[in-house]
Formats: sequence, C-alpha cells, structure tokens
Amino acid sequence: AKGAGKGQWRRYQSELHGAMVERLELRSALEHSVKEGQFILQYQPIVDLATDDTAGFEALVRWDHPTRGIITPDQFIEVAEESGLIVPIGRWVLDEALRTVAQWRRLLPRSRAPYVSVNVSVRQFRAPGFVDHVRTALQHAGVPPQALMLEITETLLMGDEERIWAELSALQEMGVRVAIDDFGTGYSSLGYLRQRPIDVLKIDKTFVDDMVDNSQQAALVSGIISLAQTLNLTVVAEGIETATHRDMLLRLGCPLGQGFLFSTPVGATEALHWLTGPAAV
Ligand code: C2E
Ligand code: CA
Ligand code: CA
Ligand code: CA
Repeated sequence: AKGAGKGQWRRYQSELHGAMVERLELRSALEHSVKEGQFILQYQPIVDLATDDTAGFEALVRWDHPTRGIITPDQFIEVAEESGLIVPIGRWVLDEALRTVAQWRRLLPRSRAPYVSVNVSVRQFRAPGFVDHVRTALQHAGVPPQALMLEITETLLMGDEERIWAELSALQEMGVRVAIDDFGTGYSSLGYLRQRPIDVLKIDKTFVDDMVDNSQQAALVSGIISLAQTLNLTVVAEGIETATHRDMLLRLGCPLGQGFLFSTPVGATEALHWLTGPAAV
C-alpha cells in the first residue's frame, strides 16, 4: 500500500508539473499574442424584452490563434489576470469596442443608436491610468460617454478601494454607465449597492436557468428585480435560452435581457445587420 501511495504521489507531482508547464506555455503564448494583436471581439445583443428592440451589445473577447483557431475567454482570462496581461488586452478591448460602436452610431439614426458594454476586470481598475484611458478612448472614438457601459464584478463592489470608487463616480458623472456582472453569485451586501455608483444589475444565467423549475430561484429573481426598482437601477437578465425564460422574466418585470434565444455573440458586421435589419426598413 505504501508503494501505491508513492506512485500516486509521483503521478500527482507530474500532473502538477504538467499543469504548471501548461500555464507557463499559455502565458508566453498569450504574451506573444498581445504583441501580435491576435484578439477579436464578438458582440451579443442586449434586447428590450417587451419590444424585441436592440438596446446595446456586450463586447466579448476571443483569442484568434493562428493554428488553434478561436479560443474563448474561459480558457485564457484567468491566466491573463494572474499575469497582468489583462491590462493591455483590456485596453485593446475598450478601444476596439468604442471604434465599433462609433461606426454603428454613424450609420444609424440617433433614436436607434446602440451602446456597447465592456467587461473590466478588477486588475484593470487597479492599474494606474484606467479612468484616463477611458476618457481618451471615448474622445478618440468620438462617441458620447452614454455609448459606453462598464461591467464590473461583485469582487470589486466588496472592496474598499476608495480611489477606484471615486474614479468610477467621476466616469458615471460624465455619463458612462456601470453594471454589476453576474449579480447574485457573490456576497455583496445591499448597503454597497446604495453607496456605490451603479446603474445596472446583470442577473447571472444560473438564476435564469433554474427559475423555471425551482420556485425558490424564481422568487430570488423576482427579489432582485424589485430591489433594482427600489434602488432605481436597470436589470439585464443573462442566458435567456428559451421563450419560457423570456416570458417569465417579462412577467417578473425584467426590462432587458440577452441570450441564445435572441443571438449568440457575433462579429461587428453581423451585429450591424442585426441593427439595420427588417425593423429599420
Ligand atoms: P460574462 O461576462 O458573464 O459573459 C456572458 C457569457 O455567457 C459569454 O461567454 C456569452 O457568450 C455566454 N452566453 C451568452 N448568452 C448565453 C446563453 O443564452 N446561454 C449560455 N449558456 N451562455 C450564454 P464568453 O464569451 O465565453 O465569456 C466568458 C466570460 O469571459 C465572460 O462572462 C466574462 O467574464 C469574461 N470576458 C469576456 N470578454 C472579456 C473581456 O473583454 N474582458 C474581461 N476582463 N473579461 C471578459
Ligand atoms: Ca459580462
Ligand atoms: Ca455575466
Ligand atoms: Ca459569467
């Protein structure tokens, strides 16, 4: 039995070693791809659940690897955050998303002008000059601050980094909107929601998934929506995959949503077609 234990330990060590080598390889490949600019953005419509109109798009990054093809963020964002590479990647994401939304807005009447919602990791907020970068990026793209929404996580909400909150408030005063992503999965308290510069709660797709067969989950979703109404916040439900999801959310008073029922994330050109589609002519 002692021998078997030793064997297991060796196997464990070699697996651990393998995982470390893999992470290091991923990191250096990622570093290279930042220099080469191997990233692309896809856009998923955020839809008015009552009218089916598109209000905006969430920008989602993909790594366009020359040999491995499209790599989704769940396979590299963690390493990007640990290594700090998320900072240059995130800068590019913001610039690119704003360039794209500027193009869309030039081609559409003002009443149909969409916004773009960009994911920002805590690490990016902590990097010096984040807010300045947002300001200059808006100016360079030539879009009003109202064309931009930033999605942050509850982790940031729980922190007491006053510098970050002061900067976020400054952005919000300019007109940039701030959304809490994956709301309900973290442990933020209600107090924070009142004190912080927040405009939107995004209900995580796990709640949407479960609410159909689980009345407790449905009550939770309903609770989040009433909370948002009380605090004067907008709600976006994520991961709407079926008409049942949509109808139930509408009944509960949720104004906006995104998910495969409407569209998967698509390229900028396809997103534009989505905006100028049948409804526009
Ligand atoms: P997220 O911000 O919660 O984004 C929603 C994810 O759910 C996206 O996955 C989207 O493609 C997927 N999704 C949308 N509708 C549905 C649906 O109806 N059903 C299901 N099952 N999934 C749906 P994606 O694009 O793989 O992104 C994963 C995560 O990576 C994002 O989660 C976000 O946390 C992160 N991420 C993506 N782009 C960026 C970025 O530019 N910067 C940073 N920091 N993080 C990013
Ligand atoms: Ca998001
Ligand atoms: Ca989310
Ligand atoms: Ca998520």
